[in-house]
Amino acid sequence: MADDQKHEPRPGPSAPGEYTQRRPQAKGLREALAPVAGFGVTFSSMFRPTVTEQYPRQKVPTKPRYHGRHQLNRYPDGLEKCIGCELCAWACPADAIYVEGADNADLPDGGHMSPGERYGRVYQINYLRCIFCGLCIEACPTRALTMTNEYELAGPTREGMIWEKQDLLAPLREGMLAAPHPMVPGTSDTEYYRGEVTGPVAEQVEWVREHRPDDPTLPPEPAGPQPEVRRVTQPSGRSARPSARKGAR
Ligand code: SF4
Ligand code: SF4
Repeated sequence: MADDQKHEPRPGPSAPGEYTQRRPQAKGLREALAPVAGFGVTFSSMFRPTVTEQYPRQKVPTKPRYHGRHQLNRYPDGLEKCIGCELCAWACPADAIYVEGADNADLPDGGHMSPGERYGRVYQINYLRCIFCGLCIEACPTRALTMTNEYELAGPTREGMIWEKQDLLAPLREGMLAAPHPMVPGTSDTEYYRGEVTGPVAEQVEWVREHRPDDPTLPPEPAGPQPEVRRVTQPSGRSARPSARKGAR
């Protein structure tokens, strides 16, 4: 730096010997009470109700919009909403999300994990890094990723704080069919996204029954074969109407 550019330190108001009081001085009664004025906060708090929470013996519900543990959601027929696009991982400022996508076409016999072309094969969230900012759920194009009110996320090991896809997936609700299985015939991912798929259809149930007959999410099979309707030939040669038999409904 050139000599003509050097700056001399400016003598400020806080320089030794130059301090000037700028705050107005209390006078009269205020001046007399000034030494004990700070106790006003203490005295006013002594008569308020206690707000100490007895956690963990008593758990107070969070506010409805509290951002807690993440959840990977499903469509009503059980297919996963995550398409493995990694946008959430790119949006994360803490680099807490790891995603690996895969093609539904690689699954056998036309099965799908999610509607459309891709699904999230690997999905991890490292809760040692997550700061619960919610940027990942803003980035998700299918609303697959949301945040629950669950806040108890401590654990005894570092490895256990990395939550895998099966830990984050929403549980299957009543009527849902576990993936993989085909999409509802005649639909695309657009119909799924618009909410036009409201549950599994017979074709999907049949597919799962054929490929995973022991799947616990299968609905119970119809009770036995339908009774055969016998036609009774009358002597006159006319057919009689079958009679309604017990249990034939
Ligand atoms: S909430 Fe924030 S820090 Fe946590 S995974 Fe999502 S983007 Fe990353
Ligand atoms: S959770 Fe959403 S943003 Fe993340 S990979 Fe899945 S679809 Fe993409």
